[in-house]
Amino acid sequence: MPAYETVIGLEVHAQLNTESKLFCSCSTKFGNDPNENVCPVCSGMPGVLPVLNAKVVEYAAKLGLATGCTVQNKSVFERKNYFYPDLPKGYQISQLEQSICTNGVLTIEVDGEKKDVRINRIQMEEDAGKNIHSAAENASFVDLNRTSVPLLEIVSEPDIRSAKEAVAYLKTLRSILLYLGISDGNMEEGSFRCDANVSIRPFGQEEYGTRCELKNLNSFRFVERAIEYEVERQIDLIEDGEEVDQETRLYNPDKNATFTMRGKEEAHDYRYFPDPDLVPVQVDDAMIAEWQGQLPELPTEKRERFLDEFGLPQDDAELLTAELAVAEFFEAAAESYGGKPRKVANWMIGELLPYLNENGLTADRCKLSPEACGPGQTARLRRHFPEDR
Ligand code: ADP
Ligand code: ZN
Ligand code: MG
Repeated sequence: MPAYETVIGLEVHAQLNTESKLFCSCSTKFGNDPNENVCPVCSGMPGVLPVLNAKVVEYAAKLGLATGCTVQNKSVFERKNYFYPDLPKGYQISQLEQSICTNGVLTIEVDGEKKDVRINRIQMEEDAGKNIHSAAENASFVDLNRTSVPLLEIVSEPDIRSAKEAVAYLKTLRSILLYLGISDGNMEEGSFRCDANVSIRPFGQEEYGTRCELKNLNSFRFVERAIEYEVERQIDLIEDGEEVDQETRLYNPDKNATFTMRGKEEAHDYRYFPDPDLVPVQVDDAMIAEWQGQLPELPTEKRERFLDEFGLPQDDAELLTAELAVAEFFEAAAESYGGKPRKVANWMIGELLPYLNENGLTADRCKLSPEACGPGQTARLRRHFPEDR
């Protein structure tokens, strides 16, 4: 048994796929020309007032309900004050003390073992813009298209004990977001981002060690590697009789190492206070009940049903339910291939999924209808992604 135990708490930012921004009617569309999706509200002009997008409240509540949180009847937006060129107002509107959802739990599975990770809270907040540094023009530019696009921040308790568990937590959470249809969960495009708080302590010690916060983890593989590196670094420090400094560190994938970004002394004091331009968010029990009734079958429930209904092995059921589009494809294909769901599952796992992976495709873009799919159809499958040839 190793001498030290790893302790991890994750802060995830998920971009929501609403049509419009959090406090104005600007489009959230990705890929428009810089500063096309901008108005006086999201560009921080003085004298304008934010108006809350009701869809965001619904989405936040639904994620809360799907993760066993209490949805609060009253929550409060606060201003998080700091200066940065991509933040025209000089503050981010966020939640903290009175967040919309609290005290949830996410059940993860690692090596066949189930484990509950508690969720501290889910808060609604706005995204910042983007700085673009151009070497060619020797200049920096600010694109405010992303400014005030709605995010949910999901904060876990420090219940995670390994890099593997951290990845399982992230995959489970992402899968729920996709099933709810409230986020595209695209990590490369930044719509699913994660900061990992990592500390170690001698086995058996109750008190937590000093943590470092790792930023810039934009793939599952980087999350795993960054945490593994960081744990080794902290163990080395302690073994050498030194101390871990509480700091924010950046992961560099090229070097596969983490580096100091800012220490505790440079930690920001954000001077949070309730936003005087926004009234508290009220949701009554009838609304919460209605949203509860609208929840789709969630990944775990679907997996259980695939085990029962189709008699799939555990691993297969897991692979086929991780993404909603894949699960739906399987159900349709299994039905049309009457009575041989295991054969369809084998074909999908052995041929379709690797094919999608290799070609960067998703099941919902497969032009071959599930009805026409199935064992022995791989050659046809290859002809059915015409736009990707
Ligand atoms: P802060 O207010 O300083 O951001 P929080 O209590 O909100 O601190 O914690 C932020 C994140 O850090 C949470 O996900 C939490 O689980 C995690 N965390 C807190 N303490 C530790 C620790 N000692 N080791 C690892 N993670 C921790
Ligand atoms: Zn706007
Ligand atoms: Mg915090």
